[in-house]
Amino acid sequence: MSTNEFDAIVLGAGAAGLMCAAVAGARGRRVLLLDHADAVGKKILISGGGRCNFTNVNSAPDRFISANPHFSKSALARYTPADFIALVERHGIAYHEKTLGQLFCDGSAKQIVAMLLEEAAKAGVEVRTGQPVSDVTHADGKFTVRFGDQSFTAAALVIATGGPSIPKMGATGFAYDLARQFGLKVVEPRPALVPLTLGGDDVLFRELSGIAAPVEARAGKAAFREAALFTHRGLSGPAILQVSSYWRHGEPVTIDLLPDAPQGWLHDAKRTRPRITLRAALGALLPDRLAETLAERLALPGELGAQTDRKLADAEAQLAGWIFRPNGTEGFAKAEVTVGGISTANLSSQTMMAKTVPNLYAVGEAVDVTGWLGGYNFQWAWASGHAAGQVI
Ligand SMILES: Cc1cc2nc3c(=O)[nH]c(=O)nc-3n(C[C@H](O)[C@H](O)[C@H](O)COP(=O)(O)OP(=O)(O)OC[C@H]3O[C@@H](n4cnc5c(N)ncnc54)[C@H](O)[C@@H]3O)c2cc1C
Repeated sequence: MSTNEFDAIVLGAGAAGLMCAAVAGARGRRVLLLDHADAVGKKILISGGGRCNFTNVNSAPDRFISANPHFSKSALARYTPADFIALVERHGIAYHEKTLGQLFCDGSAKQIVAMLLEEAAKAGVEVRTGQPVSDVTHADGKFTVRFGDQSFTAAALVIATGGPSIPKMGATGFAYDLARQFGLKVVEPRPALVPLTLGGDDVLFRELSGIAAPVEARAGKAAFREAALFTHRGLSGPAILQVSSYWRHGEPVTIDLLPDAPQGWLHDAKRTRPRITLRAALGALLPDRLAETLAERLALPGELGAQTDRKLADAEAQLAGWIFRPNGTEGFAKAEVTVGGISTANLSSQTMMAKTVPNLYAVGEAVDVTGWLGGYNFQWAWASGHAAGQVI
């Protein structure tokens, strides 16, 4: 075998590519891992505010979005959060659960990258970075990849170059170009886990920039009960990021601003404290400036005792289902992930191999599988990388 010939070339040394290469290398395969960035795992390093939310103990297929909701099941079942936790523990990395099953490093995301690099090195993976990947071709059962001014060949090629979110980190749509080159379909990529922007009538809410409240946000059939944050451009915070993955242009986002208030609470307030205003009633439950803006919008001046029950019921219903009409998102520049990607219809869910191109694989975010906020996207990267790593 010449020095430029490998059993497998993995394109993209992010979460999925590192896992895939290490698993294949550990099986005795000769693996080359290529990345155009000057260093590996850059998104891992910035993830989770620098502490990497590396998995979620509540991982389950219904927490992943895909045109085929069944596709992720096989890989996720064969490489679970417990498997990754065991790896983290073998490397002596301390971690903690923050909230909702989200596991973070106590120290730094650098530990996760170091762990993956150590696994890759132990498995004999050759890692090369800092050159552009170009000219990927397939002939006589071999893939040839041009990397800078060198060419490498291998029987198997893994696309692990992620999605186009955060281009300034080196993210590209290269995976989709390659997929199309090999005749695979791409489900329209959209920014996800991304802040939503407000305009029109909702523009007033931008004045509340910096204010957060626990809400239940809904888009389509998806509902998330977490914090929402008003920003100078619109809406953010975990509840909004979560629904953004389901939101489509033109659709409303409905927010229950008082998800903990019992039904009829405003009517009860009228009975028990008839002299207070709606503004004061809201002020007892919500941040002050938000209460003020909502009271202005609801336009029920005067004391609660002077309002009809009907009007109070209407106000309560409006607060439980406040309709925002986002005019867009903050786009790929601010999106944590991409929904859509290489169509799962073209891939084996067992091995991640393309059905029509033997020995071509796609893993990680490049594929049309997107997790919820909270460690799910890394779990998909580990699981899909592992699935391909076991067979290449
Ligand atoms: C700010 C931020 C925070 C996040 N926090 C979390 C979190 O805490 N938990 C979580 O689960 N998920 C988080 N995510 C999402 C997570 O980072 C991704 O889902 C995950 O990294 C996807 O893994 P991947 O290996 O498929 O792609 P990536 O990790 O993006 O790796 C792709 C690799 O391919 C390389 N590449 C791209 N284009 C080319 C090209 N043309 N040629 C050669 N190489 C190329 C890139 O340089 C990169 O190294 C976060 C994302 C962002 C942006």
